[in-house]
Amino acid sequence: MRQSYDIAIVGCGPAGLAAALLLHRDGHRVTLFERFDEPQPLGSGLMLQPSGMAVLQRMGLADDIAARGARIDALLGREENGRIALDAPYAKLGLGEAFGIGIHRAGLFSVLYQRVQEAGITILTGHEARGSTVDGGKRRLTFFDGAASEPFDLVVDASGWASRIELGDRQGLLPYGALWATVPVQPDDPHARNLLEQRYRRASQMVGVLPIGSRGPGLPDEVAFFWSLRRSDYQRWRAAPIEGWKEEVLRLWPEVDFLLDRISSHADLTFARYAHRSAHRPYRERLVRIGDAWHSASPQLGQGANMALLDAWSLAAGLREGRILQEGLRLSASWRRDHVALYQAVTAAFTPLFQSDAALWPWLRDRIVAPLSRLGPVARLQAQLMSGLFGFPLAMLGLDLPDYSAIAASMAARASSLSQSNSPCTRHTSLPSPS
Ligand SMILES: Cc1cc2nc3c(=O)[nH]c(=O)nc-3n(C[C@H](O)[C@H](O)[C@H](O)COP(=O)(O)OP(=O)(O)OC[C@H]3O[C@@H](n4cnc5c(N)ncnc54)[C@H](O)[C@@H]3O)c2cc1C
Repeated sequence: MRQSYDIAIVGCGPAGLAAALLLHRDGHRVTLFERFDEPQPLGSGLMLQPSGMAVLQRMGLADDIAARGARIDALLGREENGRIALDAPYAKLGLGEAFGIGIHRAGLFSVLYQRVQEAGITILTGHEARGSTVDGGKRRLTFFDGAASEPFDLVVDASGWASRIELGDRQGLLPYGALWATVPVQPDDPHARNLLEQRYRRASQMVGVLPIGSRGPGLPDEVAFFWSLRRSDYQRWRAAPIEGWKEEVLRLWPEVDFLLDRISSHADLTFARYAHRSAHRPYRERLVRIGDAWHSASPQLGQGANMALLDAWSLAAGLREGRILQEGLRLSASWRRDHVALYQAVTAAFTPLFQSDAALWPWLRDRIVAPLSRLGPVARLQAQLMSGLFGFPLAMLGLDLPDYSAIAASMAARASSLSQSNSPCTRHTSLPSPS
């Protein structure tokens, strides 16, 4: 007979919410702990890849995501002179109509959070976990106010890359982060509706635009706008007039002026720091880490939330398969370990090509990697890496590729109901490049 456990999950991010739903559906008693008084996603947009959508579809959430997100058919990066430095269309996967989905974090959050609430899962907000202790064969969480939780059979640490639980490795903050803003767009704005576009000046400057659909019915479509910035330059950026920064952005990509016009002050932008770290072994006695609490990386490859969803799926599957708790944890970690290690390594290798002060890396990117990536097999490999499918993570977990025809139909229906003349599902154009 399948075991049913008392499980505490720390964190209402994608990992924690998805794990809560999946474990609750399997009959476990789940309590979610969140540090904020009101669970809320911080930041702007992200990309849902085929890997993460495979989980969301099996959870029955693909339509809800399709209603909020924007279809992204390719990632297109250009040097400042307009020359293509990165062109990664999902079509190169050769798997039918696969694509990415740009979505506001709040969109993904609300889809998962609403289902968690409907399921009646207990959420204890205003609880900032600082650690955990083993007590009488169970594990308790301890909080910053000195309190401790009731004992649980299992604590799931889904509290993100800055996890305070088991204060592990605090190293790994990357020199570069990015400023992010969410900017509303109009039907006649000139940006490409189905591309994640970036412009680079070597690897020290990068500006990007990612369409992220609409956060809800009646709300405008939006894009996530981002600008690479060194952590050490953030205070200087804050102290300087915003107009000077805008002029710098426009020198690299003049055509984003219509977006900059909608950013009025520093407060419209959030600075995101990136960390590259991973725990060698994600579980120990009655404790397991999933999502960024296990492995975090810079978002160059747009995988973090997708990896978090795969981890959540794997955890639930492991607990179903394992005869005892520890065996379930071992199984779930073993199904994810190789994929995690692979993406940590690839992201570490790719990040300096796009965010660093070095001259060599961007030179290699533009002169070697970009031409190579146009060759058939390499283009396919690049598309597999981008879509989170490299290393066969779905087969490992008994998941299938999402049904993209159904998702595309659902997105097209939304687009036509909004009667936009330039449907996000049909355009594939890029902003003109400087001559
Ligand atoms: C700017 C940026 C862009 C990104 N773009 C992409 C992308 O395109 N695609 C992609 O897949 N990924 C992207 N990522 C990565 C992605 O956001 C993360 O990998 C993902 O959110 C990890 O999910 P998580 O649930 O593990 O952690 P988080 O989303 O960080 O959630 C952690 C939760 O735990 C709570 N918490 C934290 N500490 C405590 C505590 N001590 N006690 C209680 N609660 C706590 C937090 O409030 C939060 O609710 C991006 C990240 C950044 C910063």
